Amino acid sequence: MFARTATATARRQQQFQLGSTTRLFSSTASVRTDFTHVVIGGGAVGLAIARALASHSSSSSSSPSDTTLLLERHPHIGTETSSRNSEVIHAGLYYGASSLKTRLCIRGRERMYAFCAARGVPHARVGKWVVAQKQDGDDGDDDGAQIRILRGIHELCERELGVPTRWVGRAEAAREEPDVRATGAVLESPETGIVDSHALMMALLGQFEEDGGVLALNSAVVGIEPLASGSTTSSSSSSSNLPGSNGWRITVRDAATSTSSTITASTIINSAGLGAAAIHNMIAPADRHVRLYYAKGNYFSYAASSPKVRRLIYPVTAPGAGGLGTHLTLDLAGRMRFGPDVEWVSSPTDLAVNAARLPAAVAEIRKYLPSIDEGSLSPDYAGIRPKLAPAGAVATGGKGFVDFYIRREDGYAGWVNLLGIESPGLTSCLEIGDMVRDMLYGSGKVEESAPLETP
Ligand SMILES: Cc1cc2nc3c(=O)[nH]c(=O)nc-3n(C[C@H](O)[C@H](O)[C@H](O)COP(=O)(O)OP(=O)(O)OC[C@H]3O[C@@H](n4cnc5c(N)ncnc54)[C@H](O)[C@@H]3O)c2cc1C
Repeated sequence: MFARTATATARRQQQFQLGSTTRLFSSTASVRTDFTHVVIGGGAVGLAIARALASHSSSSSSSPSDTTLLLERHPHIGTETSSRNSEVIHAGLYYGASSLKTRLCIRGRERMYAFCAARGVPHARVGKWVVAQKQDGDDGDDDGAQIRILRGIHELCERELGVPTRWVGRAEAAREEPDVRATGAVLESPETGIVDSHALMMALLGQFEEDGGVLALNSAVVGIEPLASGSTTSSSSSSSNLPGSNGWRITVRDAATSTSSTITASTIINSAGLGAAAIHNMIAPADRHVRLYYAKGNYFSYAASSPKVRRLIYPVTAPGAGGLGTHLTLDLAGRMRFGPDVEWVSSPTDLAVNAARLPAAVAEIRKYLPSIDEGSLSPDYAGIRPKLAPAGAVATGGKGFVDFYIRREDGYAGWVNLLGIESPGLTSCLEIGDMVRDMLYGSGKVEESAPLETP
């Protein structure tokens, strides 16, 4: 039924005849299902969760029959947001002291560097500068709004987060990056880096498959319902009457043949990115339905060899903005690209880069890189941030900051729900994977999101 990957997964295919296996899942009841865990969504986050669960299942403490299935609707993994971003390993400067984003980003970044080094994933700790400009109205005595924001970031990092940041003096800035303009101040984040997101996802997939996980491509989830009691063969009586305590029935449409089939799972993890609200709404009643808001980010590539910049350059993020500001990132070959801006769109498939946004991007870039050659910039690609609120802000400060939503959904058993996994989701993916594993199997309390406020 599923178009699976051809490698190790294909060799294991015989093991997974539907409805034929019994697995015990400790967090809910003991039920007979095809799979212990079904993770929906083969982006970086879904892969990291699937890897963590498969690794748990392969450990000695688990039942040998525990299995993890990863469902992805496209013919390849990671073709949505996970391959349409800045590929920046964020340090964790922006998201306030108490947020899930800060916690997962800081730990996730440390884990990411270690994982990349151990698994040969191309990456570089290139560092970044956040550059403040004096603006009209900033007089001689006033530092200016942008410097005040930078100072707030520096103090938060130093006093509460333990994230290294450093002021760069005028002479050093001019020597190190002569083409970069910073009339106010420069704050350096030495821990910021870049990663090859495709190589990262292939490495995650490799570990997932080594631990016995199964990837099903071309497999779009089109329906999910909790199994009624008695619809499975319980090997012990259910400890809960919550929907899902007997497992879940998942209807999957094969994108290649348009045929549908069903599988059952003890646990479901919704990690479907831009499709996550649709998955949520397949399960939750109408009064708990959610919707996502889509903030497209357009990127522009740069073909000229000058000006030359050696590190990532970010403007100071405007309070309440839906993105961090059109910044300069480098790929691993040292090529510059610029973006993402924020363009609110109505569809999650509106992924064509909008060339009409180039003049506005040039105006933003010139503020910190005045010698940019506009003629060498071309529309490159776009990604879409899955926002949980209209005009949801990416950083704290101003209004509208929205945190990641990661929670065992109330009123159900065996459903972990991830919504609004925008930046810094790539940086955080390994830590999110372990967080979900701990929600299901950890002995301690896991700090998860507060319940969603639905209208
Ligand atoms: C413009 C932009 C820039 C960013 N820059 C950075 C950055 O520099 N650093 C950083 O840390 N983060 C960054 N992010 C955030 C980061 O890219 C995301 O948080 C991360 O990629 C999310 O991964 P994911 O697996 O949750 O989602 P996705 O990569 O979107 O994966 C979800 C998968 O679910 C699948 N799916 C959806 N519905 C179904 C269904 N019904 N059935 C089966 N499969 C389904 C999709 O096909 C998709 O492959 C950026 C995001 C954007 C938009």
